[in-house]
Amino acid sequence: MRFDYYAGEPVTYAVHLVNTRDSTSDRDDLRTLPDLQRFVTEVGIQVAPEAHDLRVVRNLRDDLRAIFATDDLGLGMGLVNRLLVQFNSAPRLVNDAELGIHIHFEPVHLSLGHWLGAITAAGLMFHVCDQGLDRLGICASDKCKRAFIDTTKNGRKFYCSPRCSHRASVEAFRLRQNEGNSSRGHQHQPRA
Ligand SMILES: [Zn+2]
Repeated sequence: MRFDYYAGEPVTYAVHLVNTRDSTSDRDDLRTLPDLQRFVTEVGIQVAPEAHDLRVVRNLRDDLRAIFATDDLGLGMGLVNRLLVQFNSAPRLVNDAELGIHIHFEPVHLSLGHWLGAITAAGLMFHVCDQGLDRLGICASDKCKRAFIDTTKNGRKFYCSPRCSHRASVEAFRLRQNEGNSSRGHQHQPRA
């Protein structure tokens, strides 16, 4: 089974979708239909959105964030399974000149919201089956909290980017310095 083939692009869509909302502020890049159209264009999806897709995609975004956020394998599997049922991700064989025999997971006639739900659910199913939840994460920085896929060799990434990792080490260093200063300060305080 070509796990990467079926998981790669849909899981990337999931990351981009989760990150349309900044959970550390009020920023939400998916409030209106034009926002959704922009998202679709940016990630290279060919299905055009309609007004009713906005609610479906926004709800899907919340469900996907929960999958990236949990370390509990049973919970994560349950969340993926629920999306598979909700969006009728049923496999069927397709054969075309470009790709040869491959599998589609989305029903034939679909709105964007259901198409996106069906393929992200199926992509995450393959990803979790192959790699568990360890490589799906939410950035550990309190100022970020973006979803990411850990592609490092050892799979021990806590931050979405070198920028967040650097900022966290600078903050930790400053905290240690402050703690050092204040404990030295206590030592010099006169006794009552
Ligand atoms: Zn980050």
